[in-house]
Amino acid sequence: MTSETVRFDVGNFKCIAVLDGTFRYPAGMFFTNVSKERYETLLRQRGQSAEEIETPYTCLYIDTGVARVLVDTGMGTGVPSAGKLLSRLHAEGIEPRDIDTVILSHAHPDHIGGNLDEHGKPAFPNARYVIWKEEWDFWLSRPSLAEIQVDDHFKDLSLASAEKNLSGIKGHVDLLDQEIEILPGIRIILAPGHTPGHIALSVTSGAEQLLYLGDAVCHLLHLEYPETRMATDLQPMKVVRSRRQLLNRATREAALVHSYHFPYPGLGRVTAKGHGWRWEPFAARD
Ligand SMILES: [Zn+2]
Repeated sequence: MTSETVRFDVGNFKCIAVLDGTFRYPAGMFFTNVSKERYETLLRQRGQSAEEIETPYTCLYIDTGVARVLVDTGMGTGVPSAGKLLSRLHAEGIEPRDIDTVILSHAHPDHIGGNLDEHGKPAFPNARYVIWKEEWDFWLSRPSLAEIQVDDHFKDLSLASAEKNLSGIKGHVDLLDQEIEILPGIRIILAPGHTPGHIALSVTSGAEQLLYLGDAVCHLLHLEYPETRMATDLQPMKVVRSRRQLLNRATREAALVHSYHFPYPGLGRVTAKGHGWRWEPFAARD
């Protein structure tokens, strides 16, 4: 285990939270329906920068004993501070050919950027890639992205990434339109809003469960203030509903939670507090 890989168990499943890298986003992107004064105060009260938020990309590796699964593929070569997924899996003795299934929570660049190798071929040559059908169709329909509050450059990068990283896995992809158990113990949960076909996962072994939230919750303050919207949320009302459903479920079922952009390794538990939730970070065993 290194500072970029954290091993943990879910029942009999062996899991690793793998840090693909980090990127600094303007803080305002995380709080589009909160005043600048308000979110800057909340961040400063928590000892954080009010200008930029250093945001981890934490992928998840799951060895169920039967299947070896990767959830999200990181940013790839898009930014110098990320794209470390393959080298960090290698350091754990895991090679791309070992992965049977790649589950893509959604098609934003920081989740699909590692889909392909440097030759434009699937980076995980023996894997079936899995994504929600509506997500696939949306990104390949050349959407205007008029709904999101980012500049044209950001939109162009998102569209170019989707075009490249989705088209490159054609023939290797299974498109889902039902919340099925795709492998024993791994069930798809449709959680739209951040994007139209965004999915979460329930990973269950024995009496233990992990909920993979994807980008339904992207910042710890979204737990305390669950109505908060992000600049990149395509369907803001739906994202708030999906967020509440997932967090209510995590509380009710006492599930371990993984959130891709929370402070690394993005693992913890949530308990109800006021109108939102409180975060209890998971202490990994050595
Ligand atoms: Zn993301």
